[in-house]
Amino acid sequence: MADIYDVAIIGGGPAGLTAGIYCSRARLKTVLLEKTMCGGQTLLTDIVENFPGFPAGIKGGELADHFTKQAEHFGLKTVIGEAGRITKTEGAFEITSEGAGVIKALSVIISTGARWNALGIPGEKELTGRGVSYCATCDGPLCKKKDVVVVGGGDSAIEDALFLAKFADSVTVIHRRDRLRAAQILQERAFADKKIKFKFNSTAVGIMGTSKVEGVKIKDVISGAEEIVKCGYVFVLIGLTPNSEIVKDMVQLCEKGYIICDDEMRTSAEGVFAAGDIRRKLLRQVVTAAGDGAVAAASARHYVEHLKGTEYK
Ligand code: NAP
Repeated sequence: MADIYDVAIIGGGPAGLTAGIYCSRARLKTVLLEKTMCGGQTLLTDIVENFPGFPAGIKGGELADHFTKQAEHFGLKTVIGEAGRITKTEGAFEITSEGAGVIKALSVIISTGARWNALGIPGEKELTGRGVSYCATCDGPLCKKKDVVVVGGGDSAIEDALFLAKFADSVTVIHRRDRLRAAQILQERAFADKKIKFKFNSTAVGIMGTSKVEGVKIKDVISGAEEIVKCGYVFVLIGLTPNSEIVKDMVQLCEKGYIICDDEMRTSAEGVFAAGDIRRKLLRQVVTAAGDGAVAAASARHYVEHLKGTEYK
C-alpha cells in the first residue's frame, strides 16, 4: 500500500485546493494533480468581492495564492500533469497522467472545473489572440483607448465589461435577450457606467478583420437586421463547458455534462467524489467551490477510513 495515496484530487482550483487543505489536516495521504498552475479560474478574475472575509474584495490571483499557500502549509503534495484515464483495479484507482506518471489512490476527488465556451462563428478562431479573447483580466490592459465588444449577458460578461471600461473608450455588450442574466448589483453598475452600451436581442454572427479584429457583425433576433459594431477587441463570455471528459464513462453526468452528486459530493461511482464548477449545481462561485471541496474531503475521509476499518464510530 506504500505507493497508494488515500486521496487523489484532480484539479487545483478553489474546490481542489480546499479539499487538499481538509484532507491534509485529516492527515490523509493526499496528492493533488493540476494541469498547469493552481488557482483555477480565480487566477483569471480581477477582483473577487463576494468571498467572505475580504470586505474590500481581493485580487483573484492573490486569493488563489492564499489557497495554494494554505494547502502547502498543511503538507498537501501537488504534482503538475494532465489527468488521462481513470480505472479501478483491486480496490484502488489508477490515474494515468501526462507529466506525472500513474497515480494510485483509494479515492478520487474530481475538481476539474469548466472552460469558456466559444461562439463558433466565422472569424472567431482565425482572430483568437488577435483581438478575440476569452479573458478580460488577461487582455483588458491591452484595450486602452480602444472600442471593445463583450458578447454575453451573465456575471462573467457584465463583470468583465465593468473591468474593461476602466481601459477602453467604449464597451458594447451584445446580448441575445432583452434583459441580462447577471446579478442585479453588476447590472446596476453596468447601467450606470457611461462607457458601457448595450445591444439587446442581438447575436454576434461574424467577427470581421483580416490580421486583427476590426468589428463584430451582429444580427437583431427580432427584425433580422444586421449591422457591424466597429471594435478592436471582442471578448466572448458566454458560459462554460464542464471538464468532465475524463470521467464521462465512470460517473453519471447531467445532459450538460456536469457531474451529478449527492449532498455529500458522492458521485454514482463508489470512492469518486466531485467538487466545484464540475458538478451540477445552482451557484458556481469561489465560495461554493470551497464549500464543496470541504465536503468532498470529509466524504473521502469517511470512505477511506471505512475501507481501512479505522473509522471513529
Ligand atoms: P452564464 O451564467 O452561463 O451566462 C452565459 C451568458 O452567455 C448568458 O447570458 C447566455 O445567454 C449567454 N450565451 C450563452 N451561449 C450563447 C451563445 N451561443 N451566443 C450568445 N450568448 C450566449 O455564464 P458566465 O457568465 O460565464 O458564468 C458562469 C458561472 O460563473 C455562473 O454560475 C456565474 O454565476 C459564475 N460567475 C460568478 C461571478 C461572480 O459571482 N462575481 C463572476 C463570474 C461568473 P442566456 O442568458 O440567453 O442563456
